[in-house]
Amino acid sequence: ERLVGAVADGEDQAVEAALRPKDLGEFIGQEKVRVQLDLVLRAARARGATADHVLLSGAPGLGKTTLSMIIAAEMGAPIRITSGPAIQHAGDLAAILSSLQEGEVLFLDEIHRMSRPAEEMLYMAMEDFRVDVIVGKGPGATAIPLELPPFTLVGATTRAGLLPPPLRDRFGFTAHMEFYEPAELERVVHRSALLLDVGIDAEGAAEIAGRSRGTPRIANRLLRRVRDYAQVKADGAINREIAGAALKVYEVDGRGLDRLDRAVLEALLKLFGGGPVGLSTLAVAVGEERETVEEVAEPFLVREGLLARTPRGRVATPAAWAHLGLVPPRQGAG
Ligand code: ADP
Repeated sequence: ERLVGAVADGEDQAVEAALRPKDLGEFIGQEKVRVQLDLVLRAARARGATADHVLLSGAPGLGKTTLSMIIAAEMGAPIRITSGPAIQHAGDLAAILSSLQEGEVLFLDEIHRMSRPAEEMLYMAMEDFRVDVIVGKGPGATAIPLELPPFTLVGATTRAGLLPPPLRDRFGFTAHMEFYEPAELERVVHRSALLLDVGIDAEGAAEIAGRSRGTPRIANRLLRRVRDYAQVKADGAINREIAGAALKVYEVDGRGLDRLDRAVLEALLKLFGGGPVGLSTLAVAVGEERETVEEVAEPFLVREGLLARTPRGRVATPAAWAHLGLVPPRQGAG
């Protein structure tokens, strides 16, 4: 498990519930999404209706599950949580849909990973609140229509573009979640520290926020590791010095790069003069699988403007040289 990975690990799952904002007012950042969603929910409440289906797109750890729970709370409705990979057969989905209560929120994480037949069943359920349950096999099979109570589907996906257009079009409201600004993550850290009963000053929070890769889940995880350090090595309170020292132990640098990220950058700069170099060659140089370099390390390096993927191979940007404190070779030399 990676300390700066955005996907929830076991520990995250165990402690995150305590840190989740409970209503829109408590939800930090994502200004546009908050304002729009607030309107959608208020209007539905005023009409006494079930809220429109909502699609949330964005990277892991940005608050999609949290928002779905907030939607349910704001509507005063119960919530059921499941995920695309958990629904492999249309029958699995039929079972869930037919047991929903009126107005219930169904949160479907990784909705792009549902099976095709389940997806087709979902189209009709979303639009007409009806499913056809197929009974029997072959020529004798019959479709038994089943009425569903109105419900609100909240779908989550890393990218809305991964969804087939007919599914995308059935959501009344689509919200795109952005990575968080450092100032917003500072507020996340302060809020979590308060809930965890940890003392932290402004500079300590800034230090953690700056290394959290725009992601509240990572901010909360780094805060827990820094808290451990502060308890063992100091009086439990977190300031800049403690945060910096703790994250040095965990090899998370000032910009949120971990050992793997830095190994990739260092190989690119020191062994290949900043590139261009092919992905496979780069992977061999750091002793990792191609996929690890491409899917685990590169996306953040690209987002940070440290590495570029070009048709001729991977290239380091001037910012990469600066970050590792190295001087790029003179242009046209050699
Ligand atoms: P996702 O479903 O997108 O992977 P989650 O909703 O599970 O993300 O959020 C991960 C963690 O980050 C949760 O513990 C939650 O408390 C915290 N979090 C996410 N967004 C916010 C926010 N806007 N304000 C405060 N905490 C947040």
